[in-house]
Amino acid sequence: MPPNARLMTEHDKQELNSFCEGSPVLSEEVPARLPCGFLMTEYRVVCSGCRSDIPMANAWVRRARHEFAQHSIETWDVRGVCTSCRMATSTYVRFRSNGTFDTIVGHTWRRGRYDSGEQDDQGNPLYNEFTPGDPRAFQYEEACFVGFWKYQIGIFTEIELAAEFNDFDYTEIESGVDVEDEITRAQFDALIAKLSPKLLELAAQYPKTQFFIAHGDAVTYRGRVTLNAFTPLLNGRLPNGLYLAPQSLALMISPYFRKGPDAGEVNMTTCPALQGITDKLIALA
Ligand SMILES: [Zn+2]
Repeated sequence: MPPNARLMTEHDKQELNSFCEGSPVLSEEVPARLPCGFLMTEYRVVCSGCRSDIPMANAWVRRARHEFAQHSIETWDVRGVCTSCRMATSTYVRFRSNGTFDTIVGHTWRRGRYDSGEQDDQGNPLYNEFTPGDPRAFQYEEACFVGFWKYQIGIFTEIELAAEFNDFDYTEIESGVDVEDEITRAQFDALIAKLSPKLLELAAQYPKTQFFIAHGDAVTYRGRVTLNAFTPLLNGRLPNGLYLAPQSLALMISPYFRKGPDAGEVNMTTCPALQGITDKLIALA
């Protein structure tokens, strides 16, 4: 047995049994059409004990759909039992109608995107092998995406913490209501006091990037508290002022081109600094 694995207790078994009884087998639910229209033909559950693949016939799924405004989110709660080591593994994913999905890795939500072979009007693949200058090439891990903010195109990094803050009035919440990861204002203030100095340190290390904390129902899903970084990209212009291409040709490069605190290969499509920012935010969470 791997060092971090543990055998199922009686309670675990009961909980798993009641989950399986009320839920369809995963192989009966896949292929499934997701809210964004993508046809998911395979859902891979990897055993957290021995890392082998759990067959879809040995896993059960609970699906729920949430609709708000023009958006919808579908959640998949999947439990599988490993055929080799008999350990149970849970995964939880939410699929958004905008084509992104989140999955819990440890205590962090990670964002991903499907690659179903979409192409732009030039015939370039949309989600891999970007041509030089395509800002999507700078996306790193699943936490990064291309965004447009304050008239600039850049790379957003968003890391969700295991905390939600909507500033509820707790006297109005009925006892017994499950508020899950919701934290109180005092806990939120303490969290901000703990994180602020660390974000300020990062801001000093990465002067081209804006760091901020977001929360609240109108901003993040369920008011989840998130750590964010936005790095505006340069349009074809090196930090020394030299243009690599006419401005009419969008050719986005990192403002940390050949500088910045992270060592590693620097070229037109990879930037160790943008990766470093993401890694450091994940470490903070
Ligand atoms: Zn296993």
